[in-house]
Amino acid sequence: MVGPHRYVRVVTDTHAAPSHPDIGEVLVSTEEIASKITELARRVDADYAGREVLLVGVLKGAVMLMADLSRALETPVTMEFMAVSSYGSSTSSSGVVRILKDLDRSIEGRHVLVVEDIIDSGLTLSWLLKNLRSRGPASLEVLALLRKPESQAIDLDVRYVGFDIPSAFVVGYGLDYAERYRTLSFVGTLTPAAIAAGG
Ligand code: 5GP
Repeated sequence: MVGPHRYVRVVTDTHAAPSHPDIGEVLVSTEEIASKITELARRVDADYAGREVLLVGVLKGAVMLMADLSRALETPVTMEFMAVSSYGSSTSSSGVVRILKDLDRSIEGRHVLVVEDIIDSGLTLSWLLKNLRSRGPASLEVLALLRKPESQAIDLDVRYVGFDIPSAFVVGYGLDYAERYRTLSFVGTLTPAAIAAGG
């Protein structure tokens, strides 16, 4: 029985019209994200059986993924966060990275899994992996929800990828435009009007 405090949502079309007026096209739906995270979590569980994993989330974009992935995992995990800023224009990175917030603890001897929202050029991640590798983890792998084709031009070993998407600027599920749209449960492109309005 459906009581007053229960909601039943019937999803008939996972690519149904987006529920935000600034979104042009939904590239990855709420349901696709949820089932992909479950799938990735099962792979991580199988690969790390019997070991504890240190998840390193890259702020702020990976927050949603970190929250959902960590709860989908059966593997025991601890969490750390890092914030980096890459010098470059607002829409492309230069690969020169500054640490805004470093890890709170040593990762030496730990099995580290970097949790990333999106890999575009791959320059930020490439720098981050080099930096983390120098700290002596027992292992170092990457899980990224989204990857754009350009990233494949540089030599990056990303063990877990959720979705390969076209080279468009996207928002939602942690990703922002001028700090907005992070809380959308899906990933989509912005309408030209929303881009022109500057977020
Ligand atoms: P890369 O160094 O791989 O070019 O850029 C990585 C970072 O740029 C990501 O972690 C993310 O913060 C940002 N980024 C890249 N592509 C997009 C995008 O389409 N939308 C948003 N909101 N941020 C992006």
